[in-house]
Amino acid sequence: MEKLQLERVELREIELPLKAPFETSFGRITRRRILLVKVLDKAGMSGYGECVAGENPFYNHETIDTAWLMTTKYIVPRLDAVRIEQAAQVRDALAPIRENRMAKGGVEAAIWDLEAKLAEQPLWRYIGGTRTEIACGVSIGLKDSTEALLESVGREIDSGYQRIKIKIKPGWDIDAVERVRATFGNIPLQVDANAAYTLEDAAMLARLDPHDLLLIEQPLDYDDVMDHAVLQERIRTPVCLDESIHTVRIARDAIAAKACKIINIKPGRVGGHQASIELHDLCAAHGIPVWHGGMLESGIGRAHNIHLASLPNFTLPGDIAASKRYYERDLIDPPIDIAGDGTIEVPKAPGIGVNIVKDRVEKATLRHLSL
Ligand SMILES: [Mg+2]
Repeated sequence: MEKLQLERVELREIELPLKAPFETSFGRITRRRILLVKVLDKAGMSGYGECVAGENPFYNHETIDTAWLMTTKYIVPRLDAVRIEQAAQVRDALAPIRENRMAKGGVEAAIWDLEAKLAEQPLWRYIGGTRTEIACGVSIGLKDSTEALLESVGREIDSGYQRIKIKIKPGWDIDAVERVRATFGNIPLQVDANAAYTLEDAAMLARLDPHDLLLIEQPLDYDDVMDHAVLQERIRTPVCLDESIHTVRIARDAIAAKACKIINIKPGRVGGHQASIELHDLCAAHGIPVWHGGMLESGIGRAHNIHLASLPNFTLPGDIAASKRYYERDLIDPPIDIAGDGTIEVPKAPGIGVNIVKDRVEKATLRHLSL
């Protein structure tokens, strides 16, 4: 394999307006600030990655501003000092930098894209993916009214998405699920609480059981494992962990403790593709199905997610929707779109295999730095 020789890293903070506000138990956002990473080698070949840190430290401790700082002050200098020759070496090279996995994941993703391009292979094949299309679900944020929720669910079913996920929080849970079931029948349905409940809510959460949800995602605290194990004993709905799974090791412990039956994989949360692949393999070895989460990525991050979700144990539809669902104009052209059967084709061109529109990136840029 050709050795990587990284020459330069370009960081860009961009801002994209969301087509519609997106609300979770953390709050409501109307625009997405995104940190893009471009790496270049000596020959001028480039790779792109996207850091999924949010504007505020509500999903986890990272923000786009901490990611910018960590990338410029520690991650890039560290890669410069270590002189990695393969994308698979990035994670170990960055291990001395604690936490900050979203920042690391953005840089690592760009290096994977570059390396797959140098190998003249699409990223999915390069990392051992087996699917040429992936199944897509959609995540519907909290709404102001049941009517707005039902309208939104109906629209997404009409668009062809294979499963619906609705965000829940105390006061917006059982009734919302009941209304969706009453209106749309036995559709594949799951809920995401984004850590909004405690074990004291176990009896209430058990009332979701008769609704045959595919799963309940992260009902309890963002770094909890053991309370989830207690909860899983008390409810029939499969518990899926998202926020709690920061590392492959925590996933191993959670599986051993029977704290979840399903795991959601987000590369940014665990530090990148390498960690995601290991997490995927660990889950496969334990019969734990996985699915790919979403962080309101632009087309660049979304493309990375599609390639990763081509691995064989991604057996549940992911939160990987069409570009147009969130953004009027994505950074890539053509944008990512779903087929009538609710699937997205995995790009076939080398690397992440999408065409980045430099003009649009330029126009959306708030700050830019070359290292
Ligand atoms: Mg989630």
